[in-house]
Amino acid sequence: MITIDCREAENLKHEMAVFVADWLEAIPTLKLHEITLSKFDDRTIDPEAAVKAIKEFFASIGETSNYGVLQNESNISIKYLHSAQQQKPKTPESMFSCTHCGFVTPYEVLLQNHVRMHYL
Ligand SMILES: [Zn+2]
Repeated sequence: MITIDCREAENLKHEMAVFVADWLEAIPTLKLHEITLSKFDDRTIDPEAAVKAIKEFFASIGETSNYGVLQNESNISIKYLHSAQQQKPKTPESMFSCTHCGFVTPYEVLLQNHVRMHYL
């Protein structure tokens, strides 16, 4: 089982869980400040593959330069690389919202992923 400490990327936790679980064909469990990933059977998840999936997630939303991914065996933590003051506020015009449920995100690609879930 892989544990991802995402307290520094709390706003992206749900989207990250969906993306990474899909990439690794794993089952995500959302906890307070954490995502855990496990397999349907007893197979283990390669932590390095999980790190790659997380990096792929940040790349897909254009946030690669803002987050670092640290791995220690099966524990992975996400580090926000800037102080809160440097974080650019998202303007309302750059927000995307779901017409089905009102879900709001500043990332268009995440909205597309989200909307897909309504059709599963
Ligand atoms: Zn929705």
